[in-house]
Amino acid sequence: MSASGKLRTGVVGLGAMGGPMARNLASAGLLQAVWNRTTSRATELGTELGVTAAPSLEQLAGACNVVLTCVSADEDLVEVVEQLLPRLNQGDVVVDTSTVNPLTARVLAERLAAVGVGFVDAPVSGGVEGAKRGALSVMAGGNSAEIERIRPVLEAISANITHMGPVGSGQATKAVNQVIVGGVAEAVCEALALSEKLNLPSERLLTVLGAGAAGSWFLEHRGATMLENRFDTGFKPALLLKDLKIVRQLAQDLDIKLPMVESAIRDYEVLLEGGNDDKDISGLIRLKRGSVAG
Ligand code: NAP
Repeated sequence: MSASGKLRTGVVGLGAMGGPMARNLASAGLLQAVWNRTTSRATELGTELGVTAAPSLEQLAGACNVVLTCVSADEDLVEVVEQLLPRLNQGDVVVDTSTVNPLTARVLAERLAAVGVGFVDAPVSGGVEGAKRGALSVMAGGNSAEIERIRPVLEAISANITHMGPVGSGQATKAVNQVIVGGVAEAVCEALALSEKLNLPSERLLTVLGAGAAGSWFLEHRGATMLENRFDTGFKPALLLKDLKIVRQLAQDLDIKLPMVESAIRDYEVLLEGGNDDKDISGLIRLKRGSVAG
């Protein structure tokens, strides 16, 4: 991709986050093609947005000079990059918005650099709501020139882009972010389970809590729905469990203890073992209510 060349972006992984990102890239005139493992998702979105639903990752790579990935976990990302590799061209950039271990980001960056392809780790925060509004917070790791080249792509999906340092530092930042996300979810779910036992009026409770020092993104966006027992949109517990295990690995490597993270890991394991694979982590309130065996 020449420095002034038009950005032709392909999006890989059209789930809860990747789908809305692709829509925002299409609105910005930057979307060239989409690909998804379950083909029907790509065909439907491709038709809706008037872009190519690439039949294979190789074909997507051939049609694009920027590939934005948003898949579940480390091994999925590695698989995807291996399939993209044969058709990526020198100067192309892979920008990964999934949450993975910083080491995975560094290994993939080296693998791609060997064929002249750039890599930016750009994990995001802001939930499905942030993805839909194109208002995510991007934690970018990589070299400045590459980040500048793909800046319009990041701008189309986000309200804030922060360059944290070399490749891997975006994912290291995301690990820190997930300690807070996991901890806040523990606190809010426990607090609201207690409020139910105390028979407090839910609407007034959420208003007063949100207006003071207990306010948070999670309380604001998930408080009402979890009190209505709806866990049907957002961030899957299995994905947060994956993130917390990344955090655990980093903590072990650094020889530090994160007891709250360990406690959250146990909670999500119990929740998932009980078959509670909700679409959102706020389903954790059921464990805090005692309605899931621990
Ligand atoms: P999701 O709705 O479950 O979507 C996952 C996507 O990854 C789907 O498109 C899925 O394809 C694809 N995928 C999984 N394994 C794959 C493989 N081996 N090869 C190719 N594609 C594969 O998850 P999501 O919520 O969008 O999350 C995606 C990433 O963003 C995760 O790393 C997550 O931790 C991170 N994230 C999520 C949120 C959130 O609030 N949801 C916020 C920030 C970051 P299929 O359609 O075929 O299953």
